[in-house]
Amino acid sequence: MDLDFFLEFIFPNRCAGCGALIGQGPALCAKCASALQTFDSLFCGRCMARLPEGKKICHSGSPFILGAAINYHLGAAGNLIRELKFKRNKKIAKFLADLLASYLKKLPLAFADYEILAVPLSATRQRERGFNQAELIAEELSPLVSVPILQGGLTRTKHSTPQSEIRGRKDRLRNVAGAFSADTELVSGKNIILLDDVITSGATMFEAARALKSAGAERIIGLAAAKA
Ligand SMILES: [Zn+2]
Ligand SMILES: [Zn+2]
Repeated sequence: MDLDFFLEFIFPNRCAGCGALIGQGPALCAKCASALQTFDSLFCGRCMARLPEGKKICHSGSPFILGAAINYHLGAAGNLIRELKFKRNKKIAKFLADLLASYLKKLPLAFADYEILAVPLSATRQRERGFNQAELIAEELSPLVSVPILQGGLTRTKHSTPQSEIRGRKDRLRNVAGAFSADTELVSGKNIILLDDVITSGATMFEAARALKSAGAERIIGLAAAKA
């Protein structure tokens, strides 16, 4: 049996926000969907403060500037991210990609010469889960914004404890230190949209961006569907 069909069968069409039964439609009921407002600015990659248009970045040492479509703590956002991660719900990947596309189009940001790179999982985690939720979003986002996907530029060589089990940015940074390795041939001179489903402390994004930078990547936008 086709896996998608099988999943639809086990998890009938319920709104990922409130659980109301919905037809073969989008991931959320109309009410939950309209409650999700997208942000309209970029953020500092280090302290995650809003960067109003034209304002200089507060921490210029950050290897990336942060973009995030929605607030993880508002409305159905947290449920969407969890359902995507644990149930491989493709409708949610598409829904989040739509939000990211409309967010990106609001920004005074030229990203035509960028490539999308999904933050990779370690080989062990990829095997356990069977898919990478950031990759699912990347596949949906790429055609919406006409930005190609960059495959294989970055690998996660270290299998670390899930960041969600660790508190504090310092310990999270230590947990993912040296976890990524970038392929100089593939990333050198490139502008990269480094995509993840959610950003919390920013430690994983920081470490991934740092590896890309040291392999010669030019500009990096760290992009998360949701920001905690
Ligand atoms: Zn709902
Ligand atoms: Zn800052």
